[in-house]
Amino acid sequence: MSHIDTFHITIIGAGVIGLAIAEELSTRYERVLVVEKNTSFGQETSSRNSEVIHAGIYYPHGFLKAAFCTEGNQLIYKLCRERNIPHNRVGKLIVATNDEECEKLTSIKKHAEGNGVSDLTLLGKKQILSLEPEVSATAAIFSPSTGIIDSHNLMRSFYLNAESQGAVIAFRSEVTAIHNENGSYELETNRGEYRFRTKLLINCAGLYSDKIAAMAGININQHGYRLKYCKGNYFSASPAPKINHLVYPVPPENTVSLGIHATRDLGNRVKFGPDSQYVDAIEYSIDERRKASFYHSIKKYLPGIKEEALNPDMCGIRPKLQGPGEPYRDFIIKDEKDIGHPGLINLIGIESPGLTSCAAIARYVMSLVTPYL
Ligand SMILES: Cc1cc2nc3c(=O)[nH]c(=O)nc-3n(C[C@H](O)[C@H](O)[C@H](O)COP(=O)(O)OP(=O)(O)OC[C@H]3O[C@@H](n4cnc5c(N)ncnc54)[C@H](O)[C@@H]3O)c2cc1C
Repeated sequence: MSHIDTFHITIIGAGVIGLAIAEELSTRYERVLVVEKNTSFGQETSSRNSEVIHAGIYYPHGFLKAAFCTEGNQLIYKLCRERNIPHNRVGKLIVATNDEECEKLTSIKKHAEGNGVSDLTLLGKKQILSLEPEVSATAAIFSPSTGIIDSHNLMRSFYLNAESQGAVIAFRSEVTAIHNENGSYELETNRGEYRFRTKLLINCAGLYSDKIAAMAGININQHGYRLKYCKGNYFSASPAPKINHLVYPVPPENTVSLGIHATRDLGNRVKFGPDSQYVDAIEYSIDERRKASFYHSIKKYLPGIKEEALNPDMCGIRPKLQGPGEPYRDFIIKDEKDIGHPGLINLIGIESPGLTSCAAIARYVMSLVTPYL
């Protein structure tokens, strides 16, 4: 019989989710393998986002997004302190610019409390001006536990810890076939370059996670797993307004994003976005014509902004489960034993707040893995 390498656990994808899981599982288990198609970790959605540590304000009650975000928020700050990962608990303002939005602030605060976010305070015009002299708003919510993080440093720390605990992380290794073999999975990378077997298979392939599920034999249309790509564009401004916190508008109804907000990064650069644009393909160009809609949204709360000061900056693509106008969907994080794939753990639709939730998701995946090993 020909020899074939066998791993206990294989994780597909070295973004922030795959790496957090690799570190968590390798504390307890040997023969953990991560396969990543790119030449290094974190080259896709995990490095194309706002790097915000969210508090968990808006997610529907009972959703995984709400639970993992609030737990993840605390876990991430703890990790940052313990590992000296650059971060800033900078705080966020949700600003209301008219009466209708003012009324919504109370219901946002109440909703957040239902998610366990109990540190929000309501601010009046004077308090807003003292915190943010360039912002025009009649009322606001202040969220002290929203912050920003250097996501590359976070991923590097997961990567180094996973490796030092014995996990193998193989770059330039694209999974191109998966065969379900009586209780284990046989995988092929780079169209047959390498074949190996794994008892457990954890799909953290981000924008390609629906394709991995299909490769494993799951009917992704029937199960509602097919991803839709939703681009989030960012613009920066030169000269940039001076803001001291993250500044978000009250989210517009029926949209798929939080509204065009102003974020600061750790180098004090201000960027605006992301907006939301459903696209058919994964490509990262920015349509400059979107500048006008950015300007109209931003000037409501930053009246000093000039349209000509805005420049295309970067973009990312959300792996969304809901298409335009469809009901809001939760993360899918699931052992597929009930549909004939025991030991295949799918993570699909890990859009925001995936970065904030990564350590909490990793703990949850540990609980799914434990019965098998
Ligand atoms: C515009 C935008 C803004 C966001 N802002 C925030 C924010 O402020 N705060 C927050 O908490 N979250 C935010 N998010 C969400 C967050 O970025 C994601 O939830 C998180 O990065 C997802 O990580 P991941 O590891 O699942 O995916 P990825 O980072 O995409 O990693 C998946 C990996 O799988 C690999 N892969 C795919 N197919 C294969 C294959 N066949 N073989 C081998 N490898 C494969 C890919 O190469 C990739 O490296 C934002 C997302 C977007 C798009």
